[in-house]
This record gives sequence, C-alpha cells and structure tokens, in this order.
Amino acid sequence: MARFDCDVLVVGAGPAGSVAAYRLAEAGCRVILIDAGSFPREKACGGGVQQRALSHIPVDARRLFKSSLRKTDFSFALGNRFSKASRLPLVYGVLRTEFDEFLLRAAADMGVEVREETRLTGATLQAGGAFAETTAGDIRARYIVGAEGANSVVSRLLNSRDNFFWQVALYCEIPLPRALEGTMSQESMRVDLGTLPAGYAWLFPKGETVNAGVGGPLAMARNLGSYFRAFLRAERLLGNSAAAPRISGHLLPTMTERTMVAATSALLVGDAAGLVEPLTGEGISHACESGELAARAILKHFGKPELAAIYGRIVRDGMGTELHWGRRLLSFTIAFPRLFYRLLHRNDAAWRCFCDVLGGHRDFATLWRVVAGRASLLGGPLDAFLRHMERRRLRSPGGLQLDAMPPG
Ligand SMILES: Cc1cc2nc3c(=O)[nH]c(=O)nc-3n(C[C@H](O)[C@H](O)[C@H](O)COP(=O)(O)OP(=O)(O)OC[C@H]3O[C@@H](n4cnc5c(N)ncnc54)[C@H](O)[C@@H]3O)c2cc1C
Repeated sequence: MARFDCDVLVVGAGPAGSVAAYRLAEAGCRVILIDAGSFPREKACGGGVQQRALSHIPVDARRLFKSSLRKTDFSFALGNRFSKASRLPLVYGVLRTEFDEFLLRAAADMGVEVREETRLTGATLQAGGAFAETTAGDIRARYIVGAEGANSVVSRLLNSRDNFFWQVALYCEIPLPRALEGTMSQESMRVDLGTLPAGYAWLFPKGETVNAGVGGPLAMARNLGSYFRAFLRAERLLGNSAAAPRISGHLLPTMTERTMVAATSALLVGDAAGLVEPLTGEGISHACESGELAARAILKHFGKPELAAIYGRIVRDGMGTELHWGRRLLSFTIAFPRLFYRLLHRNDAAWRCFCDVLGGHRDFATLWRVVAGRASLLGGPLDAFLRHMERRRLRSPGGLQLDAMPPG
C-alpha cells in the first residue's frame, strides 16, 4: 500500500478504542480514531466500573465516580434477601455518556485525530496495511484496530457469529424517584439471581440517578422484558408515580476457542474481540486492558509479520483464560442456582474470593476452585456435565412464572 493516512486507524471510541488510541499517540504514532456517534453519546451499560479496571485507564477518572459500591443486597427470585459487604469498593458507578467522552477527549489531547459521526462501512485487509471505507471517505492505515463493540465490522472480517458465546442485556438509567430519595444507600448495589434459569438483575445507585438492568444468555432473551418489569416494580421504580423508563439493550459477546482476535494488519479489542466476562457481564476492564495490550503489541512489533500471532497469544493466555473460567462458573450457576446463591450467602471464603476477583487481586481460576471445591478436580467430565445441565435448563425455563406477573 503506497501511502497511509495514519499509522493506526482505531474504529470505535468506547473505552477499548480510546485507551488504545491514547497509548499509541502517547508513544508518537499517528492515530485516527473514528466513531459512528457524536459525543457525548449513550451506551447501553450499567456503568459499573470494577475496581480491577482502574489500573488500565490511562487517566485519572475518579472525579466521574457517582457512587462507590461496597455492599451488595442479594435476592433469589426476588425474595430471600441477604446483604454482603466488602472492605474495598467493588464497583464505581459512572455515567457512560460522561466516562466515554472523558476518555475520548483525553485521547484527543494526547494528539489523536478524532472524527465523530464517521461510520466504518467496510474494510479490506492486506499484508501491507488496511483500507477502510467510511461514511466520510476512505482511510488507509498501516493497522486497523477494531473497537466498535458487539457489532464490529472488523471482527466480521475475522469471525463468524458462531465464534462467540452471546448474551444480551437491557438497561435504563433513571432519575431517582422522589419517594426513594434518602432510602437508597449510595454504597449498596442490588442483585437478583435465580428468577430466570440464567441471568440476573441489578441496580446501581449513582446519586441523582439509578441504573437498572437485566441480562443473561441469548436463550433467555424473550423472558428479559417481563423479568425487567417485575424487578423494577418490586424495587418501586415502576408504576405509581414513577414515569415509564426508556429501556434499551445490547448484545454481550464472549470469546470461545474459535475466536480470532487478530489478523494481518488488524487487531480486535474490547467487545469486538469478545472480551465480556460472562459471569457478571462486565466488559469495561477487559476493554481498557485489551486497548492497552493492542497498543503495546503494535508499538513493539510494528511492521513485523508476527504481530498478529503475538497479540493473539497474549489475549488468549491472559484475558482468554479468565473468560474460560468465568464461562465455567456461569455454567455452574445455571446448573445449580440455589447452591451458588447459598455459597455467596454462607461461604465467606467464596464471597471474599469473589470480591478479590472484582478487585483484580485474584483470578477466576481460583474462584472456580473455591466454588466447585473438590469437584473442580474432575476437570473434563464435570465440564461436560455442567454444559449438559445448562442446555437442559436453558431449553425448559422453570424459575419464576413470569407470565403470571402483572403486565408492566
Ligand atoms: C445493558 C448492558 C449493561 C452493561 N453493564 C456493564 C457494567 O456495569 N460494567 C461493565 O464493565 N460492563 C458492562 N457492560 C458491557 C460494556 O458495556 C462493554 O463491555 C463495553 O462498553 C465494551 O467497550 P468497547 O469499547 O469494546 O465497546 P463500546 O463501548 O460498545 O464502544 C463501541 C463504539 O464503537 C462505535 N461504533 C459501532 N459501530 C461502529 C462503526 N461501524 N463505525 C464506527 N464506530 C462504530 C459505537 O458508537 C461506540 O462508541 C454492559 C453491557 C450492556 C449491554
């Protein structure tokens, strides 16, 4: 390819794209960052930034934290409640409109050329570079970084949809109803498990607003709407004086053993690479971490044919391993929902380990060993059994009789 408009074209200015662009520009690369949206833009998200994400965010984002959530109020099928606390905050509540714009502007300040309202419509990858077609003209780059989230155009050049495990989540960010002012702790999140055969509902208080949502495997998609309404009603966020919230949703991809995260002249980061942690549905920390790692790999192996293989190995050995154990834990919670709930409630070692994982101090493999106990030694046969149980439960949703609930 004769002439490049930049060294690296980053597509998508979510956390993954902005962090990658920031780190590349910081090292002197010529970077163009495009996004289909105009910032501040909305992003379907709980806006829960886990403690472990912080070490991968290149700028100090603490002033954006609306809440610092250290406690969790759990319920099972909307009843049977208990609370747990952690010494350190587990999750910080941010508004994605603010958080994403903040990271984007930080990248621009670092020298990244930002082009908003510019959608990637197609791309061609060659050994010597990438050719991108956008709604605002063509761009030639030595490398293209696909950071456009779950519906990534660049990812589709490398992967079919079957290469990912898909979940889906709905959310709304609503002003705190007056009736609940002063009653909702700004230290506690709410999590409901066990209402559906798989998936959960959450509330993240953020001062003047509260973020509510539900999510689970794609097989649960048609039940999520009624579950969400039931949950909002139970939390007094729907009905009576509360205005009907605007609900939207999005897909959550997790990589499998088939997923490709790099090819000649293209690297995937964040959701585009399928880096959503499947147990919690959390994707911001891996988005930021992969943005950092992709930038580092490009800087170190610029122009070398082994770049794609090296980046692929780094992702698979690090985050990929975490996702593997997270996926196994998800199967366990689907196969044995009550047992998992009891473990969180009664087993302090399991709870502490879970908190440490969210804090980035321990890994999912350790959590798996703590949760599964001696059964974890069974390896493959246990895996096969859990997958079998998961398939059965997802085929015949038991759980709460959502049809019997009052319509929202
Ligand atoms: C309902 C819901 C709740 C969630 N809650 C949490 C949570 O509490 N905590 C957490 O850590 N994670 C959560 N997640 C996951 C989290 O939102 C994602 O993992 C995270 O946003 C991934 O970041 P990203 O930078 O990879 O992609 P995104 O944040 O999706 O950013 C992609 C960007 O690419 C742009 N784009 C898309 N297509 C194109 C195109 N063709 N051309 C140009 N630009 C394009 C988009 O406008 C967007 O700005 C949630 C997800 C959902 C759906």
